[in-house]
Amino acid sequence: MPTRQLDVGIIGAGIAGLSAAIALSKAGHVVSLYEKSRFRNETGAAIIIGPNGTRILTRWGFDFDKAGALDYISMRRIRGDSLELDSEETFSDIKEQYGDRWLLFHRADLHAGLKALLEAREPRPEINLGVEVTDVDVDEGIIKLGNGEEIKKDLVIIADGAHSELIAKVIGRPYPVTKSPMSMYRFLQPMDRILANPEAGQFYKDRPAGFTTFYKTEVGRPGLLINTYPCRGGKLLYVALVHPTKPAEKGLVGWDSPADVDNFRADAKDFHPAVQAVCEGATDIKVYTQMWRDPLEKVSAGKAVLIGDAAHLMLPTHGQGAAMALEDAVGLNVLFTDVSSADEVSSKLQQFDELRLPRVSAIQTMSNKMMGPPDKMISEIKRYYGGEIPGAKDKTFSKGYNDFFFLYDIEKEARKAVTT
Ligand SMILES: Cc1cc2nc3c(=O)[nH]c(=O)nc-3n(C[C@H](O)[C@H](O)[C@H](O)COP(=O)(O)OP(=O)(O)OC[C@H]3O[C@@H](n4cnc5c(N)ncnc54)[C@H](O)[C@@H]3O)c2cc1C
Repeated sequence: MPTRQLDVGIIGAGIAGLSAAIALSKAGHVVSLYEKSRFRNETGAAIIIGPNGTRILTRWGFDFDKAGALDYISMRRIRGDSLELDSEETFSDIKEQYGDRWLLFHRADLHAGLKALLEAREPRPEINLGVEVTDVDVDEGIIKLGNGEEIKKDLVIIADGAHSELIAKVIGRPYPVTKSPMSMYRFLQPMDRILANPEAGQFYKDRPAGFTTFYKTEVGRPGLLINTYPCRGGKLLYVALVHPTKPAEKGLVGWDSPADVDNFRADAKDFHPAVQAVCEGATDIKVYTQMWRDPLEKVSAGKAVLIGDAAHLMLPTHGQGAAMALEDAVGLNVLFTDVSSADEVSSKLQQFDELRLPRVSAIQTMSNKMMGPPDKMISEIKRYYGGEIPGAKDKTFSKGYNDFFFLYDIEKEARKAVTT
């Protein structure tokens, strides 16, 4: 138990908010979460978490089997028209190299597993669903709810996601997202149906779990790409078709807009019939425009701190967004394990800025600028981060990037920060 138990309010109960709640409850504080939704089960999305994130889940006692987590073993790139194999890579010794697993999840299963961990805490943190926070006074630590109620906290964690409105309270100005020119249709297919179809099944039958990516690049036209991977213990296949954003998709906000099925079919038609068979019978197709922000100059102000996508929104290039949210949570755990007065909150949050900003800014830049000139990306990363970084020739999921992401142990780094 810390010498002074803090009253902590967390806004948003996505992966970041739930993880911070677990971490601060573990540090001995009293935690209340405020979530505007009612946790309807998210459809059509899967997620990959590398060893820098899974070692956190392992230490927390996360139930990987219940969450249907699958080891990410193989990555194949296949031409979407001729089915010619372009490249294939196997990642079979990840645990030996990095100390934990590289895992594929259905996002709802990861979320449910985190919620179960939180609900098992004693005393049980309060989860207020259907409660929107409309304002935060960062100097006083006051959270204002949609019903007009005001609640004073010692520490306020803002985890309200990519479209954070409350970001302005910390950085002093609104900061809308930048939309990429690419959008993504996404859905889940029952794997037994895929396997029952010989055309579609050939890509997944008796194969280790991993990415199978079909791409179509045509000169003079932005390429289409279909990325697929299994989740939920192999029962479901996640399918994401990346395409240039259609005029009708330009105003979409959020992740879960229903897709125009005719547009989706028109793009899928560009692929080989066997790839079209992977998409056949898809229902509940969602569309989402990829978006990012450039790194923030700070993530804390007064008694409040931004974490998760609100703090470091990035493109899904390296699959590191959720892992960064888990790292944020552990950083808070270590910094707030030993608190003797609520007056220490602001200085501890400044330490959090120093601990997290170099790494998350570097990873945001790697994720957001990977498609541009590599030298430009590297010189930009060096503005934020002084350590070794992957070279200009390293590709996504190469050893250079994997070492950079996966060898980092936030718990060790945060402990170093509090003792120096
Ligand atoms: C297509 C795609 C693929 C991705 N793939 C990967 C991947 O493979 N690996 C990976 O690590 N990451 C991936 N990411 C990123 C990852 O999903 C996010 O980084 C992570 O989910 C962020 O969690 P969060 O809790 O910050 O935000 P969210 O999950 O958006 O949660 C924010 C929560 O706050 C609530 N909220 C918002 N405003 C308020 C308010 N005013 N009051 C109360 N509640 C509020 C919302 O309802 C929501 O529940 C991907 C992202 C995308 C879009």
